[in-house]
Amino acid sequence: MLNRFRLEFPSRPDNVGLARVTVAAFAAQIDPTLEELDDIKGAVSEAVANAIVHGYDNSPDGVVTVEGVLYGDAIEVFVEDSGKGMEDVGQAMEPEFSTDPERLGLGFSFMQTFMDSVSVDSVPGRGTRVVMRKQFARRH
Ligand code: ATP
Ligand code: MG
Repeated sequence: MLNRFRLEFPSRPDNVGLARVTVAAFAAQIDPTLEELDDIKGAVSEAVANAIVHGYDNSPDGVVTVEGVLYGDAIEVFVEDSGKGMEDVGQAMEPEFSTDPERLGLGFSFMQTFMDSVSVDSVPGRGTRVVMRKQFARRH
């Protein structure tokens, strides 16, 4: 069986740190470089922050689910919310696009820089699922 975990928590901003260190501790099993670990932590932070801030409009009453799966030297991370979803994922993923004028709109761009692939499924009124994959350099 592939090694995997699933973590569920309420949509409170403090839990971004919980998600980040949980994924990092899980990924540490495949002996990543510090840079690879920082990349994963950054990507997870952006996706979880989006679930809380946008998916649930900062309400602490939503549930965010984070899952990780190891495939040899690669990790796949899923971040899911049952919040408001997006009408146009393509537009949302464009650099500097944000529905909040106070924000930079760079979260998805960071995720794409940090990870090898990022895909997003979203249904308005139902929620959003972000799937990110990263292949680690083989060091042993
Ligand atoms: P930044 O991440 O730089 O603070 P941002 O969050 O607006 O700004 P992105 O993370 O790139 O930028 O997201 C772009 C837009 O996609 C958001 O403004 C929001 O409208 C939408 N979005 C992202 N994630 C979700 C989500 N989980 N649920 C609903 N909408 C989302
Ligand atoms: Mg964001």
